[in-house]
Amino acid sequence: MRDDTDFHGQAVLITGGASGIGWAAARAFAQRGAHVMVADLKEDTATGRASELGGGHRGIGGDVSNEAAVDRMVHATVEAFGRLDVLVNCAGLPDTFVPTVEQTRDHWQRLIDVHLTGTFLMAKRAAVEMIRHRHGVILNISSIAGTHALPRRNAYTAAKHGVVGLTKALACDWGQDGIRVNAIAPGYIRTPLVEGLIEQGKLDAKVIRRRTPMGALLSPDDVASAMLFLASPLARMITGTVVTVDGGYTAFGSPNDAAIIDD
Ligand code: NAP
Repeated sequence: MRDDTDFHGQAVLITGGASGIGWAAARAFAQRGAHVMVADLKEDTATGRASELGGGHRGIGGDVSNEAAVDRMVHATVEAFGRLDVLVNCAGLPDTFVPTVEQTRDHWQRLIDVHLTGTFLMAKRAAVEMIRHRHGVILNISSIAGTHALPRRNAYTAAKHGVVGLTKALACDWGQDGIRVNAIAPGYIRTPLVEGLIEQGKLDAKVIRRRTPMGALLSPDDVASAMLFLASPLARMITGTVVTVDGGYTAFGSPNDAAIIDD
């Protein structure tokens, strides 16, 4: 029987691929036979991660908000593997949680540049290759902040809402070019980004667990599983949508706790 999540021979480019959700995606696609290009801000971290995956994978450094770097990342993927089947836009950074009236324009601009403009630039450049072959999948990482408000995290919330709108627009644009574009909206995932916010006292893991119907923070692998599905032929007619992976967090609207936490 054919395995629909077999990616043997396919080339997958993952930004933010050296850490957290991106690294879980890199492992998941590599385990299923894909050639993975791990792209991340720091070249040595990206190449180090690629060698952890084993032979047949590559790493490259670059800032997704820099158009020349974006061009290099896509070009290097096609040069190394001869194709580009899946782009996963995972690069990101956290917001600062400072009071809104103290937020600077530079701070706002950096969050928008990396999350929203970076996603646009990567998708636009990857689509040049994908349209040529009339085949490709683009997965953008939004957030629960892409559908709901996170107070003080204005730039992050605006950027992640923007990723949802961009995903829909690109999906409609490229629907007849063989490219599917979808977004994933993760809830609170235990990654270095979120562990850092917990350590700094900006997030409280116990409060999040109580607020989550399934009673737990999620693992990066939970998000990677959704990516495998969306990138596979099982999702062949799914485009322009947002798949929420949050343990029920955004479904919950009651004023009391969603889950009983004993520890
Ligand atoms: P992470 O562990 O910090 O990984 C993000 C990676 O992106 C890091 O390796 C980071 O490099 C890299 N990066 C940052 N800026 C970049 C840039 N301009 N160009 C290229 N790479 C860049 O974070 P994560 O939690 O896995 O988050 C991945 C994505 O999921 C982000 O878009 C985030 O907003 C989103 N998300 C996360 C959660 C969650 O709960 N973790 C929930 C919803 C959405 P450096 O470490 O060197 O900065």
